[in-house]
Amino acid sequence: MFFKKNTDCTHKRITPDIESGYCPDCGKFIQNKWYLARCSCCNIKRKTVIKQGKIQPASKYCHNCGAGNFYIEPVRTIDFIDINYAVLVKEESENKPKYNNQYWVEKEPEPIKLLSLLFGAT
Ligand SMILES: [Zn+2]
Ligand SMILES: [Zn+2]
Repeated sequence: MFFKKNTDCTHKRITPDIESGYCPDCGKFIQNKWYLARCSCCNIKRKTVIKQGKIQPASKYCHNCGAGNFYIEPVRTIDFIDINYAVLVKEESENKPKYNNQYWVEKEPEPIKLLSLLFGAT
């Protein structure tokens, strides 16, 4: 059986309410990260979008002061106000813990033990 590597997975099952987790569809470790564009001039929050793979404000100029410069700020904890401005980036992390595969090989007799425990409990 050949498993096709799904490179265009959108990790839709990694919902924004969790910080990180393994995507059940592609197995990659996904971190939900929020970013917010702010005006470099007046510091106001700007509606943030991803265009051509870049995090940037939706509009070219600040609606408050007219400046074109901005900076991107990572949002640690998203709240319901920021959620309207910020953009969610699902970052894939390749550094899975290395012991993950070994773990399952070493733990091979585990299901039998678990089974007997289950029977013992009834
Ligand atoms: Zn995925
Ligand atoms: Zn501004």
